[in-house]
Amino acid sequence: MSQLWSPAVQALTPYVPGEQPTERVIKLNTNENPYPPAPGVGEVLREFATDHLRLYPDPTSHALRSALANSFGVETPQVFSGNGSDEVLAFAFQAFFCHGAPLDVPTITYSFYPVYAKLYGIELRQHPLNEQWEVDLDALAEAPSRSGVIFANPNAPTGHAHSLAALEALLERVTDRVVLIDEAYVDFGADSAVALTQRYPNLLVTGTFSKSRSLAGIRLGYAVGSRELIEGLERVKDSFNSYPVDSLASRVGIAALEDHAHFEACREHVITTRERTRSRLESLGFDVLPSKANFILAQHPAFDGAPLFAGLRERGILVRHFNKAGLENFLRISIGTDDEMDSLIEALESLIH
Ligand code: PMP
Repeated sequence: MSQLWSPAVQALTPYVPGEQPTERVIKLNTNENPYPPAPGVGEVLREFATDHLRLYPDPTSHALRSALANSFGVETPQVFSGNGSDEVLAFAFQAFFCHGAPLDVPTITYSFYPVYAKLYGIELRQHPLNEQWEVDLDALAEAPSRSGVIFANPNAPTGHAHSLAALEALLERVTDRVVLIDEAYVDFGADSAVALTQRYPNLLVTGTFSKSRSLAGIRLGYAVGSRELIEGLERVKDSFNSYPVDSLASRVGIAALEDHAHFEACREHVITTRERTRSRLESLGFDVLPSKANFILAQHPAFDGAPLFAGLRERGILVRHFNKAGLENFLRISIGTDDEMDSLIEALESLIH
């Protein structure tokens, strides 16, 4: 550790992402999409090298932001884009959550939030999930003076999603600070709160192209909110006052947004495979939390998670093992292709029999 680093950076425990395999494995550990992106993406890539690589990107990311705005039925100045939603979230922490009061979050949620809170010196006030493993919206709403509220819907790694009515009830109660709803997984069966941004000027919704659009490699994320909130993000964004997204990511993102049929087919396939996997895991004796995301969280009452995780790994199947307070002994399994899930079930069968 270097004394030249700021104290917050010295104290920082960086977010540890799922491991990247070096050999060919069945990779079910970081919630990627098992299917390729929209075919139009390939055409964009071919044409891009000759026509566009030598030029700087549009500093306002206008084409991408207006394509996103169109798809959400909002105005372009209500959309922000960044290098993955992680970057958009980082900007949001700086822009909205540094008021010197605690930020309200669930105890179990995306593990990136505590990393940024620490980096920006933001105290977290953590609220346990309720007995059904749901984010406790009442507890979030009831908390006294705060810097803001953040949670993922569907939540990670539980997969539970609240209804729009429940989200709206929260927004009726929290009006003083920004409520950030992270919708990284919303396309796999949950309702998006984007439309609510038109009525609640303190609501920021973030999303990503990494999951339902199969573009995790390109780093593309966005936020939708009132003009006031988007202007706040624009104030903190990096590099010569430009939008951070490069021109290749913009064009690829637009191509993905244009292919609605591919998007629908792909997400429906993931949802069907998820439900099939869930019932097969249940028939092996696993308790599986209901999920509206492209992963499931499962636990076997008779087997520890650690040897199951290790046994799967030996068989070339990567999943995540969670074993922390409030989330003991769980495996989080991303939804892959049907063949990949068959291999997973087969491997688990051999490990528990
Ligand atoms: N939010 C949640 C809840 C996530 O799980 C992830 C990815 N692990 C992200 C945001 C970030 O996604 P990306 O940076 O790829 O857009």
